[in-house]
Amino acid sequence: MSRLKNSVLAKRGVTGAEGDVLVEKIPLRLRPEEEALARDIQRESARVWNTVMTIHRLFWFKYGIWIDEAMMKDFVKGRFEVHSQDVQAIVETYYECWERTKKLHEEGHTEWRYPWRLKRFFTSTWKVTGITVEGGYLRLSNGWKRPPLRIKLPSRLKGLEIKQVQLVWHRNGYWLHVAVVKPALERVQGDTVAAADPGEVHALTLTDGKEALVISGRHLRSLHRLRNKTLRKFQKALSRCKKGSNRWRKLLEAKYRFLNWVEAQILHVEHAITKLAVEWCVQRGVKKVYYGDPQGVREQDCGRYHNQRMGQWSFGRLRDLLEYKLKRHSITLEKIGEGGTSGTCPKCGHYTRQSGRIFRCGNCGFSGVHRDVVGASGILDVAVNGHFTKDRDLPGKVVYLRPRVLAPVGQKHRGPAAA
Ligand SMILES: [Zn+2]
Repeated sequence: MSRLKNSVLAKRGVTGAEGDVLVEKIPLRLRPEEEALARDIQRESARVWNTVMTIHRLFWFKYGIWIDEAMMKDFVKGRFEVHSQDVQAIVETYYECWERTKKLHEEGHTEWRYPWRLKRFFTSTWKVTGITVEGGYLRLSNGWKRPPLRIKLPSRLKGLEIKQVQLVWHRNGYWLHVAVVKPALERVQGDTVAAADPGEVHALTLTDGKEALVISGRHLRSLHRLRNKTLRKFQKALSRCKKGSNRWRKLLEAKYRFLNWVEAQILHVEHAITKLAVEWCVQRGVKKVYYGDPQGVREQDCGRYHNQRMGQWSFGRLRDLLEYKLKRHSITLEKIGEGGTSGTCPKCGHYTRQSGRIFRCGNCGFSGVHRDVVGASGILDVAVNGHFTKDRDLPGKVVYLRPRVLAPVGQKHRGPAAA
């Protein structure tokens, strides 16, 4: 499941009246004839893109005549052998690209080029009228000259309203990006504020001042390490063979297979972590979460080893996922700098660089509380009061949880040797 550029979808009229639109990404296993069909559709979509681009550029750059989106849609209508909505979606994408580039130019980033590259393949889009669900299968129609593409619908999508489907080429394989409407969730009633402190050993520590929840990040960290370590092995093996050779192609395929697998695992754990955090917030009527932003920490030079460890850890993804899920309950997330929050003593306000798991003050000797709990409590303090309060109360109750991961890491991790 992934979040969506909702602004883009909303502009195209893909919105859910009674819920939130989400995009599910499904890797496809196609039979040779289906694969040929998919390639064919994408090639025709590329033909649409190339035509739109060539005409638009020619008229504008050569004759100074602006062909607008409506005129272009009118012109390309009925000229291509793909679903008419795909043609429209491609025209829309083209003009969005143009607008975005124009905006960048206005902001001084003139190194960005207006769309110019001819494509061999292009992402194909189906909207509501091109999509039917029958007998557990998704049927994507391709105009009257081509057979429809039939894909088995994953059970988790059954019964959901489908707003848009895209056929995407990613990492050596075809994927479907399916935009579905998920029912709206219960809105939070309270007005409690809380703070969240992200970290490596503990993925998230949350507190509302009275209680704290510490969610373990060990599983996530080990997956990140596995990902980076295996990727380095693949890169090394790839660099040793001739580009385009049989061995090279096999390695590349194995690398993509591994990446798809490990990233699905990572996403799964990230979902489990954010789920715990959101449940905790909803139960306590939290309305706003201040999120300690490690970006500030990252910019400091913490030595090569530490920098690398921080880099491996994708703080941003977890934050985005949490922000998105909280928003579905109308809880807002606000980033605040976490400078000094985990090292500042809650009793005397003195800063001590922390090395252990348990907080230890070098000035007054205060200790006995988990470092990340002190950190989260500090974030909340600074966010609410604007400064560190001396002798502040720490959460009285601390709960430790591990993310509930359904499938244990069972698959053998294939390195380049197995390819
Ligand atoms: Zn102290």
